[in-house]
Amino acid sequence: MHFRLRPLLGLMSAAALSVVSSIQAQTASNPIKITADLTDAPRKIIHAQMTIPVSPGPLTMLYAKWIPGEHMPDGPIDNLAGLFITANGQQLTWTRDDVNMYAIRMTVPEGVTQLDVKDDFLATAAANGFSAGASTSANLAMLSWNELVLYPAGHANDADIYVKPSVILPQGWQYGTALTKTGGDASHVDFAPVSLEQLIDSPLLSGRYFLEVPLAPEVTPKHFLDIASDGPEDLKLSPDTITGYSNLVRETGALYQSRHYESYHFLVTASDQVAHFGLEHHQSSDDRVPEKTFVDDNLLLLSADLLPHEFTHSWNGKYRRPAGLATGNYEDPMKGNLLWVYEGLTDYLGNVLAARSKIETASQYRDYLASTAAMLDYRPGRTWRDLQDTATAAQLLYETVDAWDNWRRSTDYYQEGDLVWLDVDTTIRELTKDKKSLNDFLAAFEGLGGNTPPKVVPYTFDDVVAGLTAVVPYDWVGFLKERLTSKSPHAPMGGIENGGYKLVFTDQPNDITQARISATGITPEWWSIGINVTTDGRIDDVLVGSPADKAKLGPGMQIVAVNGRQFSSALLSDAIRDAKGNSDPITLIVVNTGTYKVLALDYHDGLKYPHLVRVDGTPDRLDDILKPMTEGTKGN
Ligand SMILES: [Zn+2]
Repeated sequence: MHFRLRPLLGLMSAAALSVVSSIQAQTASNPIKITADLTDAPRKIIHAQMTIPVSPGPLTMLYAKWIPGEHMPDGPIDNLAGLFITANGQQLTWTRDDVNMYAIRMTVPEGVTQLDVKDDFLATAAANGFSAGASTSANLAMLSWNELVLYPAGHANDADIYVKPSVILPQGWQYGTALTKTGGDASHVDFAPVSLEQLIDSPLLSGRYFLEVPLAPEVTPKHFLDIASDGPEDLKLSPDTITGYSNLVRETGALYQSRHYESYHFLVTASDQVAHFGLEHHQSSDDRVPEKTFVDDNLLLLSADLLPHEFTHSWNGKYRRPAGLATGNYEDPMKGNLLWVYEGLTDYLGNVLAARSKIETASQYRDYLASTAAMLDYRPGRTWRDLQDTATAAQLLYETVDAWDNWRRSTDYYQEGDLVWLDVDTTIRELTKDKKSLNDFLAAFEGLGGNTPPKVVPYTFDDVVAGLTAVVPYDWVGFLKERLTSKSPHAPMGGIENGGYKLVFTDQPNDITQARISATGITPEWWSIGINVTTDGRIDDVLVGSPADKAKLGPGMQIVAVNGRQFSSALLSDAIRDAKGNSDPITLIVVNTGTYKVLALDYHDGLKYPHLVRVDGTPDRLDDILKPMTEGTKGN
């Protein structure tokens, strides 16, 4: 929402501008030391102390700008405060680069070998956005180290800088992290030195109400579900929920034939006080869900793919990474053109794995897919912006709002990835008479090199094509390019059709649509009149070309009356249903920025909500795709 484009020239030249005297000063044997103090996190301020080994002379220090997994230059330097840099007790003067806001310069005096740095992170952001959004409450805190750490410029790769982290916790709080504890006590914990890359890749979740559950204990390396919440009652997970996540661990082993971590922690924040999203890391994930997720079936269903998605990123995104996103540092701009693989394939797999792991049922998966396909099929922005451009322009699209989103298109490479990769999967199955599938591609592509510690193995478009061709020769270049560059008003439904299903509309919402209505209060009258509308009549968005568009409704307007009676969601649904088969328009009174108007909605086709139905006589490949791969899951 407040994305700011920053000039690229400045950050490209930042490293070149700096005359760096301190390269190789921050080695494994002489690391930067950082202590993050979370005792004031409930008051939305996090303190840090650092000691940074340096040599005398000019020095440029950096603050991480391009945050991995967020795919944009959103390092929250606006909330860095209280920065004091001292050498032998004397405060040093620093100046900010006047182009690259993430770089500061100073001169290290003669005889000085270490700088003492203090800074604060103001954790005051609203509960939206990503890791820099609200991350603390009275009872919990999610620490992302990039919010605090400053580091000397001049290293070719941020994996070459070493950092020894410690954390101070509020009394009685527990924690979870992929970092390795080396000492300390209940409230002051020391961790083993790691590269700067690994530190920023290893957030720490802590809280007063905290639960750690080992998952699939028979599997090595070890996996943990760590949850912090705002109340003890939020941590009452059902045995089925825990079984589902254990199944997920087993199913990923079967699918990817490899693991690229020493251990894995799902760091789950269940709170209404924080931003809700997921952020992937090599050995953990930052998963933030509404407070009641684990005790409310609707909320749990709506988060079904979150942990499978972020976990999949440990392979697809962190280990295998598009070359344009594998910059090796936090300063160089990222290129998002392969995000339809990084995020699109992950979105497909996250949902498939949720079904295979029995986190959701196959029927719920089909409801999700129906809603996704129908959303993408009613998206007129497809006629001017192709799927490829949504990925290339990702850094512009993450923080846009819903209003007119169907005309702009947003980060569509996520959901459309579900359709494109289902299309790939069913095409492989069809070409090989069901002897091979996308599973074979994944075992080779994500499992390249077998089990490894965390590292990055970059890939290009050609590598993806070569991987698919190795499974079954086909015109994969043509196949993918067609779907990436299409300006068709319709979404690619080939995967659903090859899977033995088709998209239809009925007057009853499917289970996923109903769960969304219950959880958000937004009713999607999208496929009938062309609006999504809240319980108090506020229009979230209007579909371009729809009856609502023709009636001159707009996003942000509020419907106050339907056919002369005070608005309710049920009244609007009834009016749409009753208008079927007659010629009288539905009359709406709307208020738009303080001005009232009567509008006539000419629509007579009844309520429409999406479903997938089986096409008899066709191979049921979609059902095959959703079956568990392991005996362990089948038995659960
Ligand atoms: Zn993702």
